[in-house]
Formats: sequence, C-alpha cells, structure tokens
Amino acid sequence: MADDLKPHHPSREDWNARTRLVHGGIRRSQYGEVSEAIFLTQGFVYDTAEQAEARFQKAGDDEFIYARYGNPTVRMFEERLAGLEGAEDCFAAASGMAAVNGALSSMLKAGDHVVSSRALFGSCLYILEDILSRYGVEVSFVDGTDLAQWQAALRPGTKAVFLEAISNPTLEVIDIRAVADLAHAVGAVVLVDNVFATPVFQRSLDLGADVLIYSATKHIDGQGRVLGGAILGTREFIRKTVEPYMKHTGGSMSPFNAWVLLKGLETLDLRCRAQAETAARIAAALDGHPKLARVIYPTLASHPQRDVSARQMEGGGTVLSIDISGGQEAAFRVLNALRIFTISNNLGDAKSIVTHPATTTHQRLPDAQKAELGITPGLVRVSCGLEDSGDLLADLEAALALI
Ligand SMILES: *Cc1c(COP(=O)(O)O)cnc(C)c1O
Repeated sequence: MADDLKPHHPSREDWNARTRLVHGGIRRSQYGEVSEAIFLTQGFVYDTAEQAEARFQKAGDDEFIYARYGNPTVRMFEERLAGLEGAEDCFAAASGMAAVNGALSSMLKAGDHVVSSRALFGSCLYILEDILSRYGVEVSFVDGTDLAQWQAALRPGTKAVFLEAISNPTLEVIDIRAVADLAHAVGAVVLVDNVFATPVFQRSLDLGADVLIYSATKHIDGQGRVLGGAILGTREFIRKTVEPYMKHTGGSMSPFNAWVLLKGLETLDLRCRAQAETAARIAAALDGHPKLARVIYPTLASHPQRDVSARQMEGGGTVLSIDISGGQEAAFRVLNALRIFTISNNLGDAKSIVTHPATTTHQRLPDAQKAELGITPGLVRVSCGLEDSGDLLADLEAALALI
C-alpha cells in the first residue's frame, strides 16, 4: 500500500474543534495527571541568581516569573482557546471587561480615532463613550448593520473598529466581512467582541476580524462559577501590545479561574449546540404568538439580517429576545410567573435565564437611547440552558398565558 493511502493519525494541526477543546494546550507535569493541574501560585523560584537574571531578560516558553505576567494553568487556557480559534496567540484576562479594556487601551493613544457600533454591552459602551474620550481618543458611533454609516465614519488613519458580532439584547447581526473590508481599506484594526456568537457558531478571524475578545464568564464557563476574559490575535499584537499593558495594569486571569474555564472548554461545543437547538425551537414556537410584538432570533425568517447570519454563522446562538406587547408590566408578570427560567443577568449558562434589559443591564441609558437601540419596555432576553427544551417552552407558554 502506498504510504499516503495508509490510515494515518490526524496531526495536532488537523484536529477538529471537539478534539482541540479536550486536548489543546495541555502541559502535563512530572506526575502525569489526567486532569489539568491548578498551579495556584503567585510566584516561581529560580535555582540560581543567574537563572533569575536570564529569565527576567527573556522568559522561555515553559518559564514563568509572576502570575500577573503568566502562569502554567492560565497558559493552558490561552493555548486551548487560541488553538480552537486558529489564532496565533491569546492573553487571558480577569473578566470580559478586563479583556475589552485591555485590547482597546493597549493599542490606542490620544488623538486616535475609533469607529464602533452603537448597540453594545453596557460596560463596553462605557469604555468607548466615557473612558476613551477622557484620554483624548475620538469615537464615532454607527448603526452596525448599516454599511453606509461605517463607510461614512471611517477615515484615513482611523485606528480601530469595534463591534459586537451579535448585539445585546436586540441580536442585530453585523456583516463582519463587509465591515472588515471597509476598515482594512483605511488601515484600521478590527476588534470583535464575539460573546453572543460563541466560538462554536462563528469564526470571526476567518471573516476578517484581527482581534477577538471573549467574556469567558458566559458560554466558556457556562455553569455560572467564575469571571474570565480573553484577547486573541497575532503573536505580535498579543505579546508586544497587549501583554505589556495587561501584565503591568493587573487585569490577568487567576489560575483557579483558568482551571475552571479549561474544564468549561471541554464541553463548550456540546453545550452550545444543545442550548442553541433549544433557543431555535423556542424562537420558532413563539414566533407569531398573540402576546408578543416580536420574536428576535438570528435564524428566523423575520430577522432583518437573516442573510448575514446564514452566511457567517453556523447556528443562531443560545439567546433569543421576545418583545411582550403589554410593555413593562406584562413583562414583569411573565418573569415573575416563570418556574424553570430564573431571573438573572448572565447568559450562556446551563440554567436558563430571563433578563429585562430596560430595567437592569441597560437601566443607565436615557429613554431616547433605549428606544434607538430597540430596548423597549416589553423586551425580555431569554438565555436558553441545558434543561429539556419542551419543559422550557411549556414554562414560557404558561407564563405568557397569564397576561
Ligand atoms: C458579559 C459581556 C461582557 C463582559 O464580560 P464580563 O466577564 O462580565 O466582564 C462583554 N461583552 C459582552 C457582549 C458580554 O455579554
């Protein structure tokens, strides 16, 4: 048999996502442990003063100095996620917001211009609208789904473009390839917060994003335990731009959290697919419900960016939003009547969660801005968990029947 016809083991580079999520980035210690070790240590010792000096000059791949700079368990998490995304490198952050702030602040300086989509997670909006302007960075906001607005706002020398691939809570889908083409034409770096799309359903780097940002608190943990974040990009960007900023300003991930999140990655693909199947089922079943003004889910025929989501996403994600016709009072009655869904503000969790954005996550926004973003008084964000989808649908239908 010719060599190339013999069965062969897939090489590490050819592993598919599910294999990478279980085996990627492992650094096994001399004890040969099965489950990744938690190196819950702040510091590292040196055999000699000369070794310490050499390590401070240039730390090798397996050499660590201080947990704020890096840690073996955190490094496993970074390598596993980078391997999944096909990114050259990753820096793990203490939370999603430490990652968003680290990615932006490390690359921007006074006088720079940024273009951002307007429909952002509240804390992302705070960084772009309130913090960056204090340091002399100019930010132009656009409707992320309107390419003409991106084109008009971008100018020669625009330093960066920031967007959430799927917006929270109205689930607008931005055409990443089209925005990246416009941004790259003026030399801007494209940063994508990919939380709602998840690493399972959307490969934003392949679509033209330069930098990917995650809140690992959401689907990557997926079981409501720890905060975490990650910045992914080229080795040059992560090690020369992001790392110096993060390691000196203190936004690094804890080794314990990295261990929890490594375990989360092992089941990420299975969980996201099961949760998205439930979300799609509930969205389809509630579409057209007489008590609802609107059901929003990226793969529904009624979704305004249905074509874009079909092109760039493998599924619709684990979250849908419903707009209850009776406004805030009716929305509160539905939330309070639910027995399986819990009222909280997280998403991507094994437990199904409902959120009333207008009075919680987006409470701070003036009414006019809420209206502009489609955050109506009746809007409820529904994050589907791992429970039985029939039970969840029945829970929602029973609550809706009360209004
Ligand atoms: C939750 C979230 C963040 C912030 O993440 P934390 O881990 O809570 O700091 C940023 N962006 C989006 C889209 C999010 O959903």
